Amino acid sequence: MKLLQEVRSDLNCLYLFELSDGLRVESVFYRGDTLCVSSQVGCAIGCPFCLSGSKGLIRNLSLEEIYLQYKLLKDKLPIKRIAIAGIGEPLMNYQNVEKAFWMFKKEGLKVSFYTTGFPTDKLLNLLNLPHNGITLSIHTLDEKKRKYLLPHAGSLKDLLEVLESYLKRLTKRKRKKIGLAYLLLKGINDSEGELLEFAKLVKTLGVNAVLLYYNPTSPKFTQMSPEEYERCFLILKSQNIRVTLSTRYRKDKLGGCGTLLVNRSL
Ligand code: SF4
Repeated sequence: MKLLQEVRSDLNCLYLFELSDGLRVESVFYRGDTLCVSSQVGCAIGCPFCLSGSKGLIRNLSLEEIYLQYKLLKDKLPIKRIAIAGIGEPLMNYQNVEKAFWMFKKEGLKVSFYTTGFPTDKLLNLLNLPHNGITLSIHTLDEKKRKYLLPHAGSLKDLLEVLESYLKRLTKRKRKKIGLAYLLLKGINDSEGELLEFAKLVKTLGVNAVLLYYNPTSPKFTQMSPEEYERCFLILKSQNIRVTLSTRYRKDKLGGCGTLLVNRSL
């Protein structure tokens, strides 16, 4: 595996790696201290708003390939945190992801995850790790819409059952490390009623809401204006829950959410 190229914007730096079989994956350095790494070549979940899953799943990354994304960059970047949030669903390559997690921890790094929570038996293992944050993609509470937005992520009912029973046992402080992500898609899941329902779930579970801004990746969806995004934020905030917004790094065209690609040619 080798580092093929790096591309910079004002905010992020995208690293393109070539694997020994010629396939390519990507990592992004952002916020001045965080490296977002990939866990798979492609993704089987197939969310229509995400470029990473647009070619399906090609294969899992090996433990070495996950770790090398960090190792090949660590001498030139001040990496303090790893976000396993790049290409792929970490739970679908759980064995290698967990081993990589412990290797990152050994290096003194903070490690967080972005996941759909599927498969749910692996989610329980993940929740039990000494992680520094897990954000779960929810995006809708309607099963039909979920099938469209996260086609192969299993049912919401199953996910919520696992979360409800697990989170009950956690202290308030530990629950603060769990976030439910809601990617706002204009005209699809942004009605006041849907947002209030989401806020209710966040409040019941005692976790954080992570309100994500859509980066244009597909003609199927329209990006919101900043004012519309603010309106949705205020609806959630009115329910007295903790709400995190997409940072400017996550909104960046280069390396922002949903923009990482398999086999990119530059
Ligand atoms: S958003 Fe995550 S789960 Fe969905 S296709 Fe992209 S990488 Fe896979």
